[in-house]
Amino acid sequence: MDRRWLALAIFALLTMLAPDASSTPEDVRFAKFVDSTLDAYWKLNPEDAFVVGYYKYADRASIPDAATRAEQIRFDTDCLDTLASFDVKQLSTSNRVDLELLRNQFESDRWYTSVFRSWQWQPSEYNVANSFARQLDRDYAPNDTRLAHVLARLKSVPAYYAAAKANIDRPTLEHTTLALEQNQAALDVFNDALLQKVEASTLSASDKVLFKTRVEAARGAIADYVAFLASLKVKLEKNGARSFRIGKELYAQKFRYDIQSAYTIEQLYQMARAEKASLHERMELMARVLWPKHMGAAPMPSDRLELIGAVLGELSKHHTTPDRFVEVIRKQVPELEKFVREHDIVDQDPTRPLVVREMPAYQRGYTGAHVETPGPYDPTANTYYDVTPLDGYPPEKAESLLREYNDWMLQLLNIHEAVPGHYLQFVHANKTGSLVKSLFGNGAMIEGWAVFGERTMLDAGYGGNTPEIWLTWMKWNLRAVCNTIIDVEIQTGDMNREQLVGFLTREAFQSQTEAEEKWRRATLEQVQLTSYYDGYAEIRALRDEEKARLGKEFRVKDFNNRLLSYGSAPVRYIRELMRDGN
Ligand code: ZN
Ligand code: ZN
Repeated sequence: MDRRWLALAIFALLTMLAPDASSTPEDVRFAKFVDSTLDAYWKLNPEDAFVVGYYKYADRASIPDAATRAEQIRFDTDCLDTLASFDVKQLSTSNRVDLELLRNQFESDRWYTSVFRSWQWQPSEYNVANSFARQLDRDYAPNDTRLAHVLARLKSVPAYYAAAKANIDRPTLEHTTLALEQNQAALDVFNDALLQKVEASTLSASDKVLFKTRVEAARGAIADYVAFLASLKVKLEKNGARSFRIGKELYAQKFRYDIQSAYTIEQLYQMARAEKASLHERMELMARVLWPKHMGAAPMPSDRLELIGAVLGELSKHHTTPDRFVEVIRKQVPELEKFVREHDIVDQDPTRPLVVREMPAYQRGYTGAHVETPGPYDPTANTYYDVTPLDGYPPEKAESLLREYNDWMLQLLNIHEAVPGHYLQFVHANKTGSLVKSLFGNGAMIEGWAVFGERTMLDAGYGGNTPEIWLTWMKWNLRAVCNTIIDVEIQTGDMNREQLVGFLTREAFQSQTEAEEKWRRATLEQVQLTSYYDGYAEIRALRDEEKARLGKEFRVKDFNNRLLSYGSAPVRYIRELMRDGN
């Protein structure tokens, strides 16, 4: 066989292995449905469209009133009817998964609107600041076009807040307080710097006047909502409010829609408890090894948790300084990339670099560092690693943050957020042929990959295989595991603040501050905290299965590339796709 024939034969084989996504008439019909449905979906959700880089409706704003909700439910129901009309046996495997993802998305949207009804009891759902700040910040069109879009969207801010006030019914105190704080901060987006920018633009004189009028009306609407919330808060404090605990039934439903796990929440909860016990055992071994080096001749406590806590406390003293925080992170990213390349962890793409920058002002205060991705519709835009500079922090606060993100932990944070964590996962996800899998990304796959990536790096020898980096990783991993335990106990049981702080400080070695912040987060959202451990456990199980199946043929890099090649689909669907050889 000559070379040319060999090439043709390989081509034919590849074609057989990966059939064209539109190979059957049903596949063609499905592709058309996806196209038109996504466009209609973005028209209904223009702010979400902007986040994923779909700018066609960048001049539209949604108003959260009853008419919009009715339209939403009609849309979901229509889409579900059409989805039910497809003969799934005639669809490619990839399209079958897309169909399941869309079904989950529309069922979930309908459930949120008609059953969960957080639009009534979470006043914090209403805030225009982020969507405007993002639009002013993102370079998606010439400056004046962006300002014209902002001008168009500003018009509906008063109607937006009027709808918000009309929706709110028996809210929780926690979400009311959050809404109050965040909307107070929202006023900053509509500041004088914005008006100066408008003044300096080439908008017409009349548009400039209109801009000013609308900014004033927006400020007024926000201030009015803030006043409404402040008096609501007083009433709730006096007369009692709805409990933030959603209870077993809603929790199980939300877990099913949000996580799409291979496990039930009961299974995952039991797995997390067992994992915690096993981590404690391994941590004790590491702590005993580290004791003489870091604690010298001090007597070892007989209590296991005290022993581990003492060593971790000592490790936390090794850390950088506030003024070098951003710089240290910036230097570490290329080192991680080099390690990933030299140890064959997963493919990288130098044409899609990660830009480390100081966190934009409007995002500060939520997290110390996170990756900001442009989304599948705008795949060539920059990916940013936003890091909060610590110079401006009060010294005590900076010190406590740096003890948490000590020399070892900071590396794990960078692995998780950047390489090979969230950043590389998004680079791969944006290259999948399937928009649906990238757009309706599964949070458990995304967080699970970041956690799995940490473990993969350490298994490959990153950090020198020292007991210090392993003990630190175990603490970090314990946080993911405990997130699942406490979320279930808080939202479906009766765990209170004091019990939570006691649990996290003693059994997960967290600081008082971190535990208190966790309480706040766990009262404000539900289920999301389970995504880290759920995704990690599912990916790990899949990896072990593949290892057993392939034996000596198993390659870490092949597995990782494969895993990421399906976009952010739920791991249980990725498992199906891998098995079918797609
Ligand atoms: Zn210090
Ligand atoms: Zn993450």
